[in-house]
Amino acid sequence: GLHIGVIGGGQLGQMLGLAGVAMGHRFTFLDPAMEPPAASVGRHLRAEFDDAEALERLAVECDLVTLEFENVPQASAERIAARNCLMPNPQALAVAQDRVEEKQFFEGLGLSVAPWVQVDSVRDIVQGVAHLGGASILKTRRFGYDGKGQVRLADPAHAAHEGGPGNPGEAASAWEALAGAPAVLEKMLEFEREVSIVAVRGRNGEARVYPLVTNEHRHGILWQTTAHTGDPLQADAERAARLVMDKLDYVGVLAIEFFVVDGRLVINEMAPRVHNSGHWSLGGARTSQFENHIRAVIGWPLGETDPLGEVAMLNLVGSLPDPAAVLAVPGTHWHDYGKTPRPGRKLGHVTVTAPDRNALESRLDRLRAMIRPPGE
Ligand code: ATP
Ligand code: MG
Ligand code: MG
Repeated sequence: GLHIGVIGGGQLGQMLGLAGVAMGHRFTFLDPAMEPPAASVGRHLRAEFDDAEALERLAVECDLVTLEFENVPQASAERIAARNCLMPNPQALAVAQDRVEEKQFFEGLGLSVAPWVQVDSVRDIVQGVAHLGGASILKTRRFGYDGKGQVRLADPAHAAHEGGPGNPGEAASAWEALAGAPAVLEKMLEFEREVSIVAVRGRNGEARVYPLVTNEHRHGILWQTTAHTGDPLQADAERAARLVMDKLDYVGVLAIEFFVVDGRLVINEMAPRVHNSGHWSLGGARTSQFENHIRAVIGWPLGETDPLGEVAMLNLVGSLPDPAAVLAVPGTHWHDYGKTPRPGRKLGHVTVTAPDRNALESRLDRLRAMIRPPGE
């Protein structure tokens, strides 16, 4: 087996490790936390993500290096890449880390994104709100996740008389809420649903794509993913994923989130790593996203991505239900990351499979009666 270095040691690293150890590999996870989830499945190199000495060690001691944390500093990614193979590569990371770069990259490939403007001042917000029209959403360019680093601005036409964002005071408070960080302002889309695609590309350029899944968020945090085969937008999503991966010479698992507007895909963002909306594949697909990521970075043939029936996943956020009650529902699997509970924190997830959609819905009804959605 190989010694695989992973930047980041959260639950994504833990699940990568579980898949990789089963295939005969061993892991070192670089993570600043005291006892991150992945420490249970490999060696933990405790260091900050910009610790030059630790990065050097990771690069030299491991056969290859990958990541599960998308905000690896650019200098750190380049430091690793200069010494060893970093997959995905630093350029792919750079694009995914910055919402401006990312949107321009998508536009350059001819993929549609929500109307947006770059924001570097309160004035940009005021002008942007007027330019975009309707409700909008301000997002930091970097470091946002689970809806953090975002402020929603109401439609000025409705809100102006209440001192809404048509009013510079409102723009100023939105700018302050993000501590004046460089941002983007996007038009709030009235989407029919949110979907995402998880895809994987090997070292030889071979790619495979999981079924397009439908996601429901609560308070900016993923709550539920359902995977059905035969989504009418599968081919379009697949084309986008292959285009993105080929352009970036990407190796490993990549996820792309979309809004469905008027029956068409509008790209929201991508994640250069295994993704929460792919967790259903662990037990719900012929090969999990975690196993496929490991196979991809090693240069092994990729596994089949077909779902095993109708599949769904519910996130366990903030608190955990009784595992025995959850597992009493047929077709369920329990995943607990071993993290200390905190409001809004992802602590685990549950997957459920069923032979048909009706059975899946009734199993989900039972699960949703005992699992609290994010923020509730
Ligand atoms: P993640 O944890 O997925 O990385 P994030 O913090 O990067 O999330 P986004 O995915 O950009 O944030 O936004 C979080 C959620 O907010 C989206 O899944 C969607 O529900 C909603 N949202 C974001 N942008 C828009 C938009 N332009 N129009 C409508 N809803 C939006
Ligand atoms: Mg994001
Ligand atoms: Mg998102």
